[in-house]
Amino acid sequence: MIISQQKPLGELLASLKEYKKIFLVGCGECAATCKSGGEPELIKMKADLEAAGKTVLGMCMPGAPCVAPQIKTELAKNIKVLRDSEAILVLACGLGVQSVKENDRLGLPVFPANNTLFGAVMDAQGNFYEKCSMCAECVLGETAGICPVTLCAKGLLNGPCGGMNKGKCETDSEKDCAWVLIYKEMEKRNKLDKIKEIHKERDYKKSSRPHKLIMSK
Ligand code: SF4
Ligand code: SF4
Repeated sequence: MIISQQKPLGELLASLKEYKKIFLVGCGECAATCKSGGEPELIKMKADLEAAGKTVLGMCMPGAPCVAPQIKTELAKNIKVLRDSEAILVLACGLGVQSVKENDRLGLPVFPANNTLFGAVMDAQGNFYEKCSMCAECVLGETAGICPVTLCAKGLLNGPCGGMNKGKCETDSEKDCAWVLIYKEMEKRNKLDKIKEIHKERDYKKSSRPHKLIMSK
């Protein structure tokens, strides 16, 4: 899941200052789950914009605005009102914003309502934690399912640095050292011999951006 958080209203109004008639797009998946682009947030955004003198002509909430067929369908359903709109404000992550821009055949100016923060897992209490950096070379199989690329401040692949102190990270005494977590997990699994295996260095070419995965011929 991609975590995003709404920008301050003042910043949004500054980016929309040249436009009065606005169309809103939300996100029924990630942004709805992290409360930055679901139905309640769309309704509140409409009220906030209208209190600031804008007119919200309409809104839609595709399941996932980053999926072309879904956003195309929603934009097509709203084409009449979009023809009268001057700009689109997207309450989703940057993927949703760019997908709306690419699939809006009217070529309206598209603005992000949110900042995109990180990819996360959600716990049973609804909190979000970054656990993977999407590095394109997963080592979880060798690190007892704990990602040092993400959880270690230095992304170390071969054990802790010299700064680890009482199990905590030298960059933040509140944070567990990733390699202590890995050690404990391997100890629990009786696999401590594995921790001595040296990981080869990462091939950073694999994580060069932008990534793509072409599925169509
Ligand atoms: S090693 Fe870590 S950052 Fe890389 S893919 Fe695996 S979980 Fe994600
Ligand atoms: S103390 Fe542990 S988590 Fe922090 S930088 Fe060093 S190895 Fe990484």
